[in-house]
Amino acid sequence: MKSPFRIIYSLLLILLFAAVTGVMLGQFFPVLTLVLLVWSFYQAWLLVRTLRWIMNKDIEPPDLPGSWGDLLYTIYRKQKSSRDREQKLTAVIHRYQQSSAALEDCVVIIDTKDRLEWWNTAAETLLGLQPRVDKGKSILNLLRDPRFIRYYKKRNYHDPLELNSPINEQITLQYHITLFGQGDRLLVARDISRLKKLEQTRQSFVSNASHELRTPLTVIRGYLETFLDQPLPSPILRGMKQMEQQTQRMEGLVRDMLMLSRLESTEHLTEDMPVDIQLMLKEIKRDALVLSGDKQHRISIEVDPNYDLLGQDNELHSAFSNLVFNAVRYTPAGSEIRIVWHTDAQGGYLSVYDNGPGIEAFHIPRLTERFYRVDEGRASESGGTGLGLSIVKYVMVRHGGQLKIRSTLGKGSCFSCQFPADMLIALEKLATATDNA
Ligand code: ADP
Repeated sequence: MKSPFRIIYSLLLILLFAAVTGVMLGQFFPVLTLVLLVWSFYQAWLLVRTLRWIMNKDIEPPDLPGSWGDLLYTIYRKQKSSRDREQKLTAVIHRYQQSSAALEDCVVIIDTKDRLEWWNTAAETLLGLQPRVDKGKSILNLLRDPRFIRYYKKRNYHDPLELNSPINEQITLQYHITLFGQGDRLLVARDISRLKKLEQTRQSFVSNASHELRTPLTVIRGYLETFLDQPLPSPILRGMKQMEQQTQRMEGLVRDMLMLSRLESTEHLTEDMPVDIQLMLKEIKRDALVLSGDKQHRISIEVDPNYDLLGQDNELHSAFSNLVFNAVRYTPAGSEIRIVWHTDAQGGYLSVYDNGPGIEAFHIPRLTERFYRVDEGRASESGGTGLGLSIVKYVMVRHGGQLKIRSTLGKGSCFSCQFPADMLIALEKLATATDNA
């Protein structure tokens, strides 16, 4: 690049030439004025040519002298490099769009105002979005399932959402949303129908197998009970008693496996009813005292008398009794067990506290896994099936809540079922409804 002062130098040179010529001709000012006038017109003409090129950039730049030439050349070079960059960027975007379009998963870009900005071909076949027609429309008007709307508005997308495709009931989609930019969203929906089918096959296999096992087990237990009523030599009697114990254990396992597969088969409650918490807890306490027997656990109940719970009576009974029976099984004789039902603005909590040996922290995240036991030997002696806490977890998922476990070694544990506020029912309201009925 030549010096940016070239135009100044050339002006000075011309002024010098005009001054010398003016002095020589004895006409200093007229010559100076004439030369300056010619120079100004010439510059104005160059400016016009420059402007003409700038306004019509597609043509090659004119070959102008001096600083104007430098100016045009610099603009042309910068323009060319930015055009090259633009072309490269367009190629990258085009490639990205081509690869996203080829994806089997639906990819949808949604702007801050919930409007559809871009989507790939899979989104057209699986979500039913129409090319061009739906651009700029609100996603909430196109995917109207209330569960999707709740998930979308929650803005906490840690867990994916599973729903049937809005245009084909046979297809199950797993939705995942990611926030990016200034609150834009990237929605990815994956077809998991095959996986779902496999899961259903597994579930129905477990459920059928458990069902089939029930009858032979009942027959075996019936015979064992009959034999045990007879006078038998002591080695045979011991064997028979062990067989009866193991049969009972297997029956418990079959019962829990059936319950789990039933809970797994649907993620949400189909209907819910008001549950009398106080009555349920009293029944559970009575059974827990029978289970405790000679160990004489001290069991107390504290209940918030203002609220009951909406839900499935038998599922909740099973979940709460699992927690209370565990507290009896895994704490030494005479331990204290508190069953507490309380509520606050966030929801309701059914907590079972004990002052037993507690559980080491690293076991806690795994306790709700099927057949996970802290102490294998003690747990199988206790008569548990290893499925109790998995059942509690599934019951809680179906009731829109969760199971929280806290424990301190040597001090005791607290297993708390947390229910959302919309599952609570004020007892006053219930009483009025019953009076009016
Ligand atoms: P199980 O049928 O073996 O009781 P669960 O799923 O109900 O299976 O419980 C899993 C494990 O959690 C138990 O084996 C036991 O080790 C531990 N556990 C459950 N409740 C308590 C408790 N209150 N105190 C100490 N350990 C507990």
